[in-house]
Amino acid sequence: MSSPSRSASKPRSLDALFRPRAIAVVGASRRPGSIGRQVVENLLAAGFEGPVYPVNASSPVVLSMPAFRSVLEIPGPVDCAVLVVPPADVLAVAEQCGRKGVAGLVVVTAGFREIGGEGIAREERLKAICRRWRMRVIGPNCMGVINTQPGVRLNASFAAALPPPGRVAMVSQSGALGEAILADASASGVGVAMFASIGNRVDVTAADLIAYWERDPGVAAILLYIEDFGDVAGFVAVARRVARHKPIIAVKSGRSAAGAAATGSHTGSIALPDVAADTLLSQCGVLRVESFREMFALAAALLHQPLPAGDRVAIVTNAGGPGILATDALVGGGLTIAELGAGTRRRLRRVLPAEASIQNPVDLVASADATRYRQALAAIAHDRGVDAILVLFVSPVMIDAAAVAEAIVEQTAGRKPTLACVMGRRRGNEALDILRRAGIVVFRYPEDASATLRMLVRRRRMLARRPGRTRRLPVDRRAVRAILARHRDGWLPAAASEGVLTAYGIPFARAQRVGTPAEAVAAAHALGFPVVVKAEAERLLHKSEHRAVVVGLADGDQVWDAAEDLLARLRRKFGRVRLCVQQHARGHRELMLSMTRGSRVGPLFAIGIGGTLVEVLRDVAFRVAPMDDKDPHEMLASLKGAPLLGAFRGTPPLDPRPAADALLRLQQLALDFPALAEIEVNPFIAGARGVPSVAVDARIRIEA
Ligand code: ADP
Ligand code: MG
Repeated sequence: MSSPSRSASKPRSLDALFRPRAIAVVGASRRPGSIGRQVVENLLAAGFEGPVYPVNASSPVVLSMPAFRSVLEIPGPVDCAVLVVPPADVLAVAEQCGRKGVAGLVVVTAGFREIGGEGIAREERLKAICRRWRMRVIGPNCMGVINTQPGVRLNASFAAALPPPGRVAMVSQSGALGEAILADASASGVGVAMFASIGNRVDVTAADLIAYWERDPGVAAILLYIEDFGDVAGFVAVARRVARHKPIIAVKSGRSAAGAAATGSHTGSIALPDVAADTLLSQCGVLRVESFREMFALAAALLHQPLPAGDRVAIVTNAGGPGILATDALVGGGLTIAELGAGTRRRLRRVLPAEASIQNPVDLVASADATRYRQALAAIAHDRGVDAILVLFVSPVMIDAAAVAEAIVEQTAGRKPTLACVMGRRRGNEALDILRRAGIVVFRYPEDASATLRMLVRRRRMLARRPGRTRRLPVDRRAVRAILARHRDGWLPAAASEGVLTAYGIPFARAQRVGTPAEAVAAAHALGFPVVVKAEAERLLHKSEHRAVVVGLADGDQVWDAAEDLLARLRRKFGRVRLCVQQHARGHRELMLSMTRGSRVGPLFAIGIGGTLVEVLRDVAFRVAPMDDKDPHEMLASLKGAPLLGAFRGTPPLDPRPAADALLRLQQLALDFPALAEIEVNPFIAGARGVPSVAVDARIRIEA
């Protein structure tokens, strides 16, 4: 028996939970249909290698095994206790477990934080008890843990069926979904090494499990179902490191706004806006997928197939329609239809009948048998311009599907990532089995194959990306501090926003602020023509909506007229109006740079094709901090409108460096001043090399 520890030493290993030598089930029950009975039955059915001790306060026998009245009565040591007692008893039992020297608790019992009120208090007390006794805890409100590895064979859960052993480890934030996920894993042929449903996470989080599985040689890929990140910084640090050597695939719920609200209410924490979650996962190198079906297909592909060197895919089919469908699906997924080399096409021409297509998609036509598939694939597998192969097979009546499957396996094994789509009524189970056994993932529809291929390419790119540099840029912090000290919460006046940004080295078009047409003309002469005149007033947020921006003014008369018109028109609506006379920017593309906060991932940065069209185009790329000096360039390249930034119809290519530099400065500003809640530089007018790029409009909101 132990005494509580006072030292705040390193948390104990999770081995007590996943590799216990002896296990107690507190709340073990003889009542058919109860969870307390299911857990005991599961432990026995899985063939747990160590002793299982049922603990039941009132019945001396559970499932023909002698039961103990309390863990304290168990004669031998106990590493792990599964708690299935009523919520009111959990704290007392946890305390006894601590005294017994139990190192890991799996608290299946619900009725904690998720019910609010007294549940929250109970959860806090459970946390305190476990801290004091240095017990690692999974749950409460969870389905349990599973370890199928030989020598352990632990099913400390109430899952109906144990998945086949394998090399993926899975964590589910939801217990109910955990059950479904395990069933899906079995159905899709993905074997599971370990599984945990973490429930309310008083102690063990997804990040802890990722770190635990990082070191386990029996785990080759990690699968997550998460609703929220919990400790975001902790998650990022671990996921980033581990994803570089073990693939991590996540289904993150809350994609829809309604979904986000639902996750907020049920696990008691506020979901992040989805784009922030998306950005965060992708920056960690976690592959986010849309569904469990996609998760398992991707896991199988990652476990059994090499990563593609690039995104060029060859399609081999025995029917035209599916070939077109596959082409669309691949292109829609951002992949490239490989152009076959001349040598490959010559070889294909030699072996294929005249009606076959030797262009990609390569159509072997309906009469294609195993020999024809074999010959075509042999040619394509050696083509240097092909990074991955998608084999389509619509099983016709007269063809031996199993033989075709053998041919596919034989010709593609291990060389290039190969996925298959088998369609048609006679999908031939034998053919599917042959492909699956050889590690070729089989899909029913090309869209699904495309989604998986896209993720393989993404992982390859992630692994190939060498991190850029992050360094502190020289900035004037004091100037910003002084400006912020003079303003209250809310939107800063335009001149103050400009002051903040220029102090951080973000170039702004030179401007003067004046009150009368005469002063405007003088300012224009001082700045040099052409100029822009804008009206500024407290409630005037979107100036162009009120025709409050007049651009391209070439002389004093034009400035005078514009100034007079602005003052006359806008004073009626907005009261006190000032004029901003600004140099007309010479760049040819308008970008938007922004930072928003208010989500738990910290500041979220965006760059997009901007100006007044940004809301319509919605062509924006996001990053969370920390961005390195390659990130802004990659963001620009990822925009749909990226071609507009290159040489385009007579316009020279944009120099991306000033915009990239400005975004990194924005990052530093946001990290230095947490009171800045929102910054939008729109537009940042960027030009070709040699033309100055400048911001001409910006809004900053402060929230102390
Ligand atoms: P708002 O966003 O409040 O409508 P902006 O100051 O962003 O006002 O101006 C609207 C548009 O006017 C910009 O997107 C840009 O096309 C043009 N514009 C504004 N200032 C300049 C400038 N200094 N040089 C060139 N074009 C400008
Ligand atoms: Mg603007």
